[in-house]
Amino acid sequence: MTEAWIVVHDLDGGNALARSARALAERVVAVSVGAGGLADADLTLTVDAAPGALVEAYAQPVAALLAARGATVVAFAGDVRSRLLAGQVAAHLGVGPTNVAGVVSTAPLVVTRLAYGGLAVATDEITAPVAVLVLEPGAVTPSDVAGQGAVEPVDATPTAGLTLVETRPKGGEQVDLTAAKRVVGVGRGFAAEADLDLARAVANRLGAELACSRPISEGVGWMPAERYLGVSGATIKPDVYLAIGISGQIQHLVGVNHAKVIVAINKDKNAPIFQQADFGVVGDLYQVLPALVDAL
Ligand SMILES: Cc1cc2nc3c(=O)[nH]c(=O)nc-3n(C[C@H](O)[C@H](O)[C@H](O)COP(=O)(O)OP(=O)(O)OC[C@H]3O[C@@H](n4cnc5c(N)ncnc54)[C@H](O)[C@@H]3O)c2cc1C
Repeated sequence: MTEAWIVVHDLDGGNALARSARALAERVVAVSVGAGGLADADLTLTVDAAPGALVEAYAQPVAALLAARGATVVAFAGDVRSRLLAGQVAAHLGVGPTNVAGVVSTAPLVVTRLAYGGLAVATDEITAPVAVLVLEPGAVTPSDVAGQGAVEPVDATPTAGLTLVETRPKGGEQVDLTAAKRVVGVGRGFAAEADLDLARAVANRLGAELACSRPISEGVGWMPAERYLGVSGATIKPDVYLAIGISGQIQHLVGVNHAKVIVAINKDKNAPIFQQADFGVVGDLYQVLPALVDAL
């Protein structure tokens, strides 16, 4: 029976990763650092995280555990902490991590990854003795096969180094765009920050989350970084994505092209977004949006 390993540090993210990892093998074994047993894995090796120890302090003992148990495929989620752990675990195992955008086959293990800032998709066969994979959102279809949920506690001593002295809630708003069913994205077609109210009105009518292109967040600072979509932002998989005043550059599209339906509003009929859109309105957003709000 083929086996995929996952390394996790939180329960919800861990169970989601366990379901995704079933695309890699028939059996899923987890190493859980401080998050307890996973119902969706077949077996979880649980490590009790010491108070004050950071997850990455377990990279070395987790790598040793994986090596001792003969793991050959090890997957991590795409959140910041998991990526940090993936890099360190891979280094301890003497291999490099791969950011996985898709899985082509499991035997041999062939994956796709974004290259050149999302301008290209590379296809790689992983021949390293241990494949350390970071699964990007949407890289694989999660399985609904139930895990066996067995648990085996293991000892692991964190390495000395950084110590957690305090935790504080992150400032600003928290949003999980990846879970949204409807998303309205705004781009540089909006001339002023106050005009985003037009898009908010549409989003409210649709029950949608508001998101944006990178320049709206990192350029003019009208929206927080959590809300921009694309290769360096969030990747979404909603039922509907409505792109307003967004040109549709590849770096943006790679974050949204898993949407079931893409609708675009742009005054330039040659805007690249129309090549990806299922429905499009060629028009000035300042005329289209009020009419759309009325219609909704
Ligand atoms: C390494 C790298 C990483 C990047 N990562 C990302 C990323 O993760 N996410 C991301 O979004 N971008 C990213 N970018 C930037 C990306 O290349 C584009 O520059 C950006 O997506 C463009 O944003 P935009 O569509 O809002 O603006 P623009 O490209 O300026 O497009 C604005 C659009 O609005 C339309 N418009 C203007 N006025 C109106 C109006 N009144 N009514 C209707 N339409 C109107 C225009 O026709 C135009 O198509 C990255 C770039 C690089 C180099």
